[in-house]
Parts: sequence; C-alpha cells; structure tokens
Amino acid sequence: MSDLKVQNLRREYGPVVALEDMTFDVQAGEFFCLLGPSSSGKTTTLRAISGLEDLAGGSVHFAGQDVTHAPVQGRGMSMIFQTFALYPHLTVRANFEHPLLRAGLSSADAKKRVNEVAELLRVTHTLDRKPSTLSGGEQQRVAIGRAIVRQPKLLLLDEPLTNLDAKLRHDMRAEFKRLHRELGMTMLYATPDQLEALTMGQRVGVIRDGRVVAIGTPRDLYEKPADRYVAQMVGSPPINFLDTQASADNQIELSFLGLPVAAQGIASGQPITLGLRPHDIALAGGGSSRATRFKAKIHLTEPLGDVTIIDVAAQDATMKMVLREEVAAKYSVGEEIEIGFDPHDLHVFDRSSGARLGNGEAASV
Ligand code: ADP
Ligand code: MG
Repeated sequence: MSDLKVQNLRREYGPVVALEDMTFDVQAGEFFCLLGPSSSGKTTTLRAISGLEDLAGGSVHFAGQDVTHAPVQGRGMSMIFQTFALYPHLTVRANFEHPLLRAGLSSADAKKRVNEVAELLRVTHTLDRKPSTLSGGEQQRVAIGRAIVRQPKLLLLDEPLTNLDAKLRHDMRAEFKRLHRELGMTMLYATPDQLEALTMGQRVGVIRDGRVVAIGTPRDLYEKPADRYVAQMVGSPPINFLDTQASADNQIELSFLGLPVAAQGIASGQPITLGLRPHDIALAGGGSSRATRFKAKIHLTEPLGDVTIIDVAAQDATMKMVLREEVAAKYSVGEEIEIGFDPHDLHVFDRSSGARLGNGEAASV
C-alpha cells in the first residue's frame, strides 16, 4: 500500500507563506492531480513530499510510515520537474542506466530494465543517441523514463507538459494515462491546466494560496463546485458569473427572464452570484424549459474549429456560450438569438463568502 497522507504542511519563505495548510490524501495506485494557478504552492508541495523543503509544520506519511524527516533517497519516490534535466553528454541509454548503477544494480540487470523502460516509453530507437538530437516529446519521454526506471512507488510530476507544444501535450496526456494503467504506480501530478487535471486525474485537489480548497472527481468538481473559486478553476471556457440578489426567499429574478427561478436556501435580498457554464446554455427549443428561455444579442464569435465560443448580451448580462461550429456558422455578430438553460444547471453561490448554496430549480407557478 503506497498511500500518501499530506497533513497541514506549512512552508514559509521569509514573509511569503508558500504553503499555508496543505492537506490531502492519495490512494495507492491513484492518479491524483493538484490543480492551481501559478504561485499557489504546487511545486513547493511536491518538493515537500520528496523531502526537499524545510517545513515549518505538518507531516508526510507514505506507505504507512512517517517520512516527514526521512532522507530524500530512501523515500521510494521520484520527481519529474517542469524543466526536465537529462545529462546532455550521455546517451539516452546511459541516462537511464545511471540511476540504476548508482543504486547498485548489476549491469546485466540494469540493461534489462533499461530495455523494458525504453520499450514502455517508445524510445528504443533513441537509446544510442544524445538527448540534444531528440525531439521535445522524445526528450520528455526519456525524462519520464529516467524517473521511473528505478521503479519508484510514487511518481511526482510537476507540470511536465508545460514546455511542450499543443499537439504533444495532447499526445502526452494519453501517454500518461497509459503509463499509469500499465505501471499501476501512484501518481501525483501538479498542473495549472484544468484540461490536464480533468482528463487525467481520477481525483483532483484544487489549490488556492497554499492549501487544498476542494477535492473530488472531475465530475464532482465540475457539477458541484464547492465555491466560486473552484467553479472558475474547472471548465473551459470558464463559467459565467452573474451578480444579483434573491428577489424573495428561495427565489431569483433575472432582468432577461420572464419568470423567476427557484433556489433553496436563499433569503430575500441576499447577495448571490449565479454561475452558468457556457456548455449549459443552448439554443431555445433544445430542451430548455420555457421559464429560462431568453433573447440575447451576439457580440463576438470565436471559432475554435469544431466549436465556436459566442459572447452574448441579454439586457445587462453578458455571457459566453458554446455551439458546434456548423450551428454557429448560421448566425452572425449583431444578430439576436433565443437561448435558454435548464434551471438545474444554474449554480448559486453566496456573494460574500463565495460558498456554494445549491442549484436552481424550475419555479412552481
Ligand atoms: P507553483 O508551483 O504553484 O507556481 P510554488 O510552490 O513554486 O508555486 O510557489 C509558491 C509560493 O512560494 C510563491 O509565492 C513563490 O513565489 C514562493 N516561493 C517558492 N519558492 C521560493 C523560494 N525559493 N524563495 C522565495 N519564495 C519562493
Ligand atoms: Mg511550480
């Protein structure tokens, strides 16, 4: 069992608090993603787990052992950094062999292991070349190979795709999932990219200012975000927010809707923020209830290939929606369209705390 238990980590750099109170668990064999913007504490967290940080508080348990003060070498972990380091003067084969020989493997055993890892990462054809002669994707696969060749029980990955181009990132996302499946290794993957976190993570921990503020499956986080911050971290294009207040107990009126929407747990006059995902807005007639249908004017279209992001304005509210490209092509900027949403897709947050209050419902009229 290689359970990882990270509890209340605190790390300060002078006046900067890099980790405020970092707490989360990773199950044995799990692919867990940490999702947070730049400077939120991702790298510091991974380094702390590896034993590279001088902590002001908290503990790290791994495979049932308290490793908070254990030396880096004996932890059975391996880390891949954002800027992956390979020995430029050594061949790929020697880059792979180096950690194995240092760990005392016989050269026959090392050779066998190197061949297996090269095959797994599909870099066998590069074994006798120097890293500088490889493509970016090959170099990254070699860096991964170097990290896993010693068969760590936990693999820590710090934004390993950030420096690659879009096509390679796409391929490598699938590659990481395959590696995880084939190796059965526990993986902790830090990224600022919600797409990476949602597509690869079995569970995702969302970080804000040095602490995890929500943990869940990608679906949980998308459908029931714990607060406004989590809602805007997850999903692309980002969720639309509308600030308003409850028009009566358990009721919301919006300037562009003919009828009110119901929502439990809000008091008359309470300041709230509504969240509506671009993908949850559709052309009217596509299943949206009559109460939540409205007219909106197209302000801007942003074709992305298969889909088009459309900015619309309805009365004083502006929002983004997503249409399939061939549907969007029928409309032009300035045109008025009738759109709508399912009231259950409306997320209701308290405006001052940002906390999730619930979802909308169709009003009983
Ligand atoms: P992330 O990886 O999410 O971008 P980091 O863990 O690198 O975030 O950094 C968290 C915070 O700690 C940031 O405010 C960063 O500036 C600060 N920090 C990280 N490393 C150092 C350091 N060596 N010296 C001073 N401040 C640091
Ligand atoms: Mg970082």
